[in-house]
Amino acid sequence: MTGIVTKSTGSWYSVRVDNKTIIECRIKGKFRLKGIKSTNPITVGDRVDFKMEADNENGIITKIHDRKNYIIRKSVNLSKQTHIIAANIDQVFLLVTLKNPQTFTTFIDRFLATAEAYSIPAVILFNKIDLYDKELLAKKQELENVYKTIGYECLDVSATEKININKLKIIMKDKVSMFSGHSGVGKSTLINAVYPELDLKTSEISVQHKQGQHTTTFAEMFDLPFGGYIIDTPGIKGFGVVDFEKNEIGDYFPEFFAIKHHCKFNNCLHINEPNCAIKDALKNGEIAQSRYISYLQLVEGENENYRVDDWA
Ligand code: GDP
Ligand code: ZN
Repeated sequence: MTGIVTKSTGSWYSVRVDNKTIIECRIKGKFRLKGIKSTNPITVGDRVDFKMEADNENGIITKIHDRKNYIIRKSVNLSKQTHIIAANIDQVFLLVTLKNPQTFTTFIDRFLATAEAYSIPAVILFNKIDLYDKELLAKKQELENVYKTIGYECLDVSATEKININKLKIIMKDKVSMFSGHSGVGKSTLINAVYPELDLKTSEISVQHKQGQHTTTFAEMFDLPFGGYIIDTPGIKGFGVVDFEKNEIGDYFPEFFAIKHHCKFNNCLHINEPNCAIKDALKNGEIAQSRYISYLQLVEGENENYRVDDWA
């Protein structure tokens, strides 16, 4: 039988076979996926094969299907192993606000680069749209143009005023989604607007509480009444960690990646090199200033304030 892991305690895995059936499964012996050293062999979102045990109540996992992507965090213990938070994520929604509080473009761009590195499509949600005056709406439009041009889907929402919630549901339908954004941006309120019955423990208090206790927490997948899933990651701040190599950062900026083969040097960092296609595109306005600034911050490592693991 085949199903999706929706929850894990570390020794038991809840495998969802269909709408009605969830079988509690275990693994026997060692499971190791090629190329990944992790503290957990199987994670939420994994598609697995299993066979029923003799008691015909529980299952034994026999195979993990290839993952299309997965997100990680560094393990808290000293083994330097990684913990795989979740796998097979269809999309991540990045919540952004221009007011109460303002989200900085450096923050957005680091997040998007991380999502690119993980091969997870990102959708930008401009939340608290009800609070924007004419000036902020113009600013929002400007940002939206930047991100739409390079291929990111964007949507205005208001979690409290329930603006565009149905449009959001349509994007979420039949997909595995995650929500991310800095604290106070409205994640809990928005998830609540999408699915009021779902009581996610995403509040800052529970996050800090759990981290303080050093308990191992696991992500969980919740199925949505209109089709699809939300992955919740209680106690895990952010979207995991990617340690970028300087010379690969440009690959995670899609508009850079598209033209970098025109640079004179194939190891061009697009900073001081001659005949750089990225700098040319910046000069003639094809690449946004804000994107280039974010890129430079990542390359120069001046991103301590924007570390992914600071994000809730
Ligand atoms: P989280 O930290 O990302 O989970 O943010 P919360 O969901 O706790 O929201 C933080 C604050 O922003 C709360 O006071 C919410 O009522 C408020 N908020 C969330 N969404 C909106 C919105 O669309 N419009 C307005 N005006 N306030 C919002
Ligand atoms: Zn270049």
